[in-house]
Amino acid sequence: MITREWVAIHRKHHAKVETDEDPHSPQTRGIGKVFWQGVELYREARADRPSIEQYGKGAPDDWIERRLYTPHANLGPTALLFVNFALFGVPGIALWAIQMAWIPFWAAGVVNGLGHWWGYRNFESADTSTNLTPWAVWIGGEELHNNHHAFPSSARFSMRRWEFDIGWAAIRGLEKVGPAKVLRVAPSLDIRPNIAVPDSETLRALLSHRFQAMTDYQRNVFKPALREEAAAAGAKLRQLLPRRMRRGLVDDGRWLKPDAREQLRSWVSQRPRIQAWSSTARACRCCWRRAAGTRPSACASCRRGARRPRPVASAPCRTIRRG
Ligand SMILES: [Zn+2]
Ligand SMILES: [Zn+2]
Repeated sequence: MITREWVAIHRKHHAKVETDEDPHSPQTRGIGKVFWQGVELYREARADRPSIEQYGKGAPDDWIERRLYTPHANLGPTALLFVNFALFGVPGIALWAIQMAWIPFWAAGVVNGLGHWWGYRNFESADTSTNLTPWAVWIGGEELHNNHHAFPSSARFSMRRWEFDIGWAAIRGLEKVGPAKVLRVAPSLDIRPNIAVPDSETLRALLSHRFQAMTDYQRNVFKPALREEAAAAGAKLRQLLPRRMRRGLVDDGRWLKPDAREQLRSWVSQRPRIQAWSSTARACRCCWRRAAGTRPSACASCRRGARRPRPVASAPCRTIRRG
């Protein structure tokens, strides 16, 4: 696969994430298909030439792409086979076979499949992306897929103190000796306390960190409330509401099966306090979706939401101010 095709398929994944147009979403295609037949999905996506044209704009188009990689795409693997055989004899062929299966399995199966299906989430992004492990060594940093979806243009994937991205270490090393240049990393939050009326900078920060705000809302608002509910009912948290359903509280059960979503809605409707918080989360998401891509200060309802005095309504915004 040449660079432009890969770039186009990957950009389309971000642009159409978890919809029918997403080239490799476990939500729409099933985890089994993405995990075991990820390469097949790339072949399918590559055949969609209008999409490759549309999403491949601006991908590298230099001499080496035009004269070597594009017309001789199979030359690299073939040359590697000969090199392996020359260096190691027959075991070199087995080594080659492992090398050929390595990236398709880990990138097309594990990252695209498990990276949207299993693991932990730092950010309540508008997709199902997950971080597989906090120590991203095995797949060059790609294990931190939820961090990547939250800040797709960041060269650094590790976002928490305990996370490590070996890809970032390599980029920093290359930057030190010259061939790499870091263009962007995820913005860090600079908190100014006691802002009575959120200004455009605050709103811009809130938009950039909206997934973090929603995560904090889940942790600081929903979780304690659920604990109280569980304590009142004399039950454990997971008996009150399974983890999958608890996650559904912040994203409106978007990723639940229809009957589970209905079950969650009816459960929430019997608890006025949780219902109020749930609709605040829905209003925030709606507001952020509207404001994304526009000037944040132009979004009046976002300003109203941030100014609302009730702690419930302003919890995500307060998180930004407080840190
Ligand atoms: Zn993804
Ligand atoms: Zn990406």
